[in-house]
Amino acid sequence: MISSIKFFIFTCLLFLGYYIFYVEYNNILNTNLLKNNFQIKEKNKIVTSKKLETNEETLNKNYIKKENNLINKKLKIKKIIVSKGDTFSKILNLFDLSDRESFEIINKIESIFDLRRLNVNQHIDFYINETEDIEKIEFIDNLESLIVVDLNDTISVKKIQLEKLFYKSSHEFTISESLYSDGIKNGLPQDILIKLIKLYSFDLDFQRDIRINTNVEVSYDYYQIKQNEEIKYTDINYALISINDKKLEYFKFETDEGNIDYFNREGKNVKKSILKTPLDGARLSSNFGMRKHPISGYNKMHKGVDFAAPTGTPVYAGGNGIIEFVGNNGGYGKYIRIRHNNEYKTAYAHLSSYKKGITKGARVIQGDIIGFVGNTGNSTGPHLHYEIIYQGKHINPLKLKLPSGRVLEGNEFERFKNEFKIIYANHLNLLYE
Ligand SMILES: [Zn+2]
Repeated sequence: MISSIKFFIFTCLLFLGYYIFYVEYNNILNTNLLKNNFQIKEKNKIVTSKKLETNEETLNKNYIKKENNLINKKLKIKKIIVSKGDTFSKILNLFDLSDRESFEIINKIESIFDLRRLNVNQHIDFYINETEDIEKIEFIDNLESLIVVDLNDTISVKKIQLEKLFYKSSHEFTISESLYSDGIKNGLPQDILIKLIKLYSFDLDFQRDIRINTNVEVSYDYYQIKQNEEIKYTDINYALISINDKKLEYFKFETDEGNIDYFNREGKNVKKSILKTPLDGARLSSNFGMRKHPISGYNKMHKGVDFAAPTGTPVYAGGNGIIEFVGNNGGYGKYIRIRHNNEYKTAYAHLSSYKKGITKGARVIQGDIIGFVGNTGNSTGPHLHYEIIYQGKHINPLKLKLPSGRVLEGNEFERFKNEFKIIYANHLNLLYE
């Protein structure tokens, strides 16, 4: 009996122990589970907070990106060059924009800029972000202002006045090939070279006159736009082309009428005409056209004009140029022909003699004495027979229509003299500083 009670108690204790163990185990297990849960929650929290951090980072990144946008970094720039027949809406069609967006962009721009004024070859910059959206559109209006279309949040436009930095530059070089190629080699901007060639187009035949050892000096203005560093070359202030001892020199000057023009040190305008009367005190004795020849008696075309003047009267070069012919020339007697540029030539006949130094290839300047009135060749008395040949055809010198060159006088000339001295001093400073 006692042994049965002992077994019962043992069994009870065993169960109790087991129960206690089980409960405790479960407790421990639950606690651990809870702990684990807690840990998971913690982890979640960490994850969440990390996410928050990530969000913050994203925000920061966005902020940085925005900042970068503001300073034009990290954005791709797609440059569109306006071609003939392009409209702004046609250009916008190249991008992924809704009709509504395009319409709004155009409307906004039109409020400050007339889009019909877009020029062929004008550049339009589209700033594209990483998501391939347009953030900004920019273009320059006539080198004066920058039109900015901001598409970041809402579409807005603004006009920014471009800041210009003004400079002067001077160059000097000797020609070894041609004015153009040596100019380029010596760093002369193409725009200035074209202006230089235009400036001398009446003085020089660039195909033939420019020789080796021709010295060129030029001083010009330009400005740089601060925003995009674009450079615009403006005016030549000073130019000198010297061939041997002949100097063709011009200074920029604003006349009393407000015209920008070029004059030499004597105040003579670059647009000089060819002299209609290349001698002083002469009387027109025979006009240009059909006439009965005084010697042969036949009706013949008189290809020039005759000026009666005493033998020995000086004859002037009708314009700047090169002596193309000097010598006896049949019925013309002692004869000189000057080539002025690639279009004009002048001829002088029946001379008594030539001025010393007037030889084939010599360079002359308008007004230089080239020879003297005479009666050589088929001539009935001392006179100068004068011809102007334009593009190979004889024209009436008295009806020659060329822009008449102005000569500065009085106060205007005094003002010019003061200004050209400053221009020249600046030029020398720039060359030798
Ligand atoms: Zn004649």
